[in-house]
Amino acid sequence: MQPAQGEHHVQVECVVCGSESDNPYWDCGEYSFGRCGRCGHIYQNPQPSFADLEARYSDEYFSYELDNDENFFSLMVKGLSDISFEQRVASLAPRSFLDIGCATGMLPAYFATQGFTAEGVELCEPAARYGRELRGVPIFNGTLEQAAFPDASFGVVHASHLIEHLRDPSAFLRECRRVIASSGYLVLVTPDTSGLQARLFGARWRSAIADHLHLFSRRNLARLLAECGFIVEEQRSWGGLAAGIAPDFIKRPLDTAAKRWNFGDVMLVLARPAPF
Ligand SMILES: [Zn+2]
Repeated sequence: MQPAQGEHHVQVECVVCGSESDNPYWDCGEYSFGRCGRCGHIYQNPQPSFADLEARYSDEYFSYELDNDENFFSLMVKGLSDISFEQRVASLAPRSFLDIGCATGMLPAYFATQGFTAEGVELCEPAARYGRELRGVPIFNGTLEQAAFPDASFGVVHASHLIEHLRDPSAFLRECRRVIASSGYLVLVTPDTSGLQARLFGARWRSAIADHLHLFSRRNLARLLAECGFIVEEQRSWGGLAAGIAPDFIKRPLDTAAKRWNFGDVMLVLARPAPF
C-alpha cells in the first residue's frame, strides 16, 4: 500500500541500538529509509502512527492477501521444510501453534491437521473474519499485544513477513518471548539486507516498500533477538531475483545459488527462548 494523504508521522530512534542518529539512505519518493549511524540498521524515519498504519490494512490489503493466499502458504511450508521443522517439533509440548499476521489463516489451518492446536492473530479485519468463518481457525483481530495471551501459551510462534511492518519490533519480540513456552520455538521470516539484492538494487529493491518500516540484516536481527530473550538456532536465506525482472534461465540458477550459499534477500530465523 502507498502512504495515504494526511498520515501523521513521528520520529523514532533505532530499535536495535537506541541511537537517535540516522543518515539518509534510500529515497523512495513518498517515503524514505535512513541508516543508523551506529549499528547500520535500515529503517523508515519518521514513521506513520499506529492508527495510520492500521488504516492501511483494510479491504484493499485483504484482496491482496486473498489473491496470494496459496502462493504465500506454499512458500511458508517450503521454508519450514528446509529447516526440517516437522522433525524438530515432533515431540514438542505444548503442541500449540500461533501464527501472527496469519492473513486468512491457511497456515494455522494446516497445522491443525498436523495434530496442533492452532490459532492466529491478524490486524486486517476482513482477513481475520474470512479465516474464522471459512477455515474455522480461531483468529484474534488486532495485534499480538492486544490479544494478551497467558504466559507460555504456545509451543511455536510463527510470524512470516510481519516484523518488518511493525513500529516496535522490540516490544513485539518481548511479547513473543512471554507467550512462548520455555521449550518452544520462534520462527521469523523477513527481508534480509545482508543479501546481494539490497546492495544491488538499493531504493529499488523489492523489499524497500512503504509498508516495510524496518529492514534487518542478519546480524542486527540476531542482536535484537538476543536482547529480547532469544537464542538464534538457525538462520537461512533464499530468494535470488524477484519474479519478472529476469528471464527464467537466469532467475532459476540464481535462486538455487542464493539458497545454497545463503545470500538470498529473504531470511528465515529459528530462535528459542533463552532462560530468564
Ligand atoms: Zn542502531
